[in-house]
Amino acid sequence: MSLSSELTQNPSDDSIFSSLTSSEHEQIVFCSDNRTDLKAIIAIHNTVLGPSLGGVRMWPYASETEAVHDVLRLSKGMTYKASVAGLQLGGGKAVIIGDPKKIKNEALLRTFGRYVESLAGRYITAQDVGVHVHDMEWIRQETKYVTGLPRRLGGSGDPSPMTAYGVLMGIKAAINKHTGSDSLENKTIAIQGAGKVSSHLVKFLYEEQARVIVSDLDQDKADSLAKTYGAECIEPDRIVSAEADVFCPCALGGILNSITIPLIKAPIIAGAANNQLKDEQEHGSMLVDRDIIYVPDFVINAGGLINVASELEGYDESHARGQITKIYDIIHHILDLASDKQLPTWAAANEIAEDRLQNTRHIHAMYTPSSHFSGRLGELYSRK
Ligand code: NAD
Repeated sequence: MSLSSELTQNPSDDSIFSSLTSSEHEQIVFCSDNRTDLKAIIAIHNTVLGPSLGGVRMWPYASETEAVHDVLRLSKGMTYKASVAGLQLGGGKAVIIGDPKKIKNEALLRTFGRYVESLAGRYITAQDVGVHVHDMEWIRQETKYVTGLPRRLGGSGDPSPMTAYGVLMGIKAAINKHTGSDSLENKTIAIQGAGKVSSHLVKFLYEEQARVIVSDLDQDKADSLAKTYGAECIEPDRIVSAEADVFCPCALGGILNSITIPLIKAPIIAGAANNQLKDEQEHGSMLVDRDIIYVPDFVINAGGLINVASELEGYDESHARGQITKIYDIIHHILDLASDKQLPTWAAANEIAEDRLQNTRHIHAMYTPSSHFSGRLGELYSRK
């Protein structure tokens, strides 16, 4: 097993370094192990606020370049997500190249865990697409820098209920901005996707006496959810244009694009799906032009991250829930800032994230012995 870097193997190819420079990444680690066929990349975007935390995604990428771009994009997103959420964490992410159904096994995951351990806490891993809660147990055999563990191991388990709770907070903040009241009674929420997050969200909305319209490509899933909570179930191609107070994307990314935006009737978009805007600039502006309130996805869906982050201090469900409740205030602040400064909401959220990073960088610029000396010199100072 060796920590190999493809960067040094292809010294003539400077495109990766260009990407690192332009996206301001701190470090990228290429992990290769012949025995297990592990090919993984760990990207640490920014550790100004704290150790980088982000899930490990396992995916059969078409090329190594595609995997590099994905891990750079996702890790940068984690920096912004943690910053806006007020966490003392930086942004990082890992990808393992390969089809989880074909190559995922104990040895591969434990080898990945060794690489995580070798970074001595600069990167803390968690679950993501292609990696399940039970897989985290293998990774945990080799590293303490892991979150998203099962409840029986003191972890936070499935993050979906907490993500859904955060989405509820975001919907309420946006409704309040629009109507002056938090009440969801008789408000109609059109949800795309009847998966893990939606199944919890529909329950919360039912308790709030909201009306729910739900759709899923898997008709059985949508039917069963609708039946349980007395919701209406419609065909997947009708959900975007449904008459509703809130359109709530909880399926895949890229749903807000030049084709769908003109069809949306709801004055608010607030849902869990990642990367909802196909193009931030273009489609963010289209939503502003149409006077639609868009709640930035990486803020409203931060409940899952806040939940796993709370494992680092010893998981306490009610404390985590309290932290996630703050998504309401954060979103209110973003929506106010966006309207005051005439900014798209995603840009207002980015501004808040960047301000916090800048301010913290400034605080860290002040000299303190413990933060400046490690090893023997650090020991001498800490003894004083
Ligand atoms: P999931 O896979 O359990 O559910 C997604 C559902 O969307 C599936 O049932 C799928 O059939 C359906 N779907 C896909 N395309 C569709 C379409 N065009 N129309 C209607 N339905 C469609 O996923 P999830 O865990 O519920 O997550 C939902 C979204 O939220 C994803 O984008 C995910 O990345 C994001 N997210 C989830 C979490 C979490 O804690 N699970 C945290 C943050 C973000």
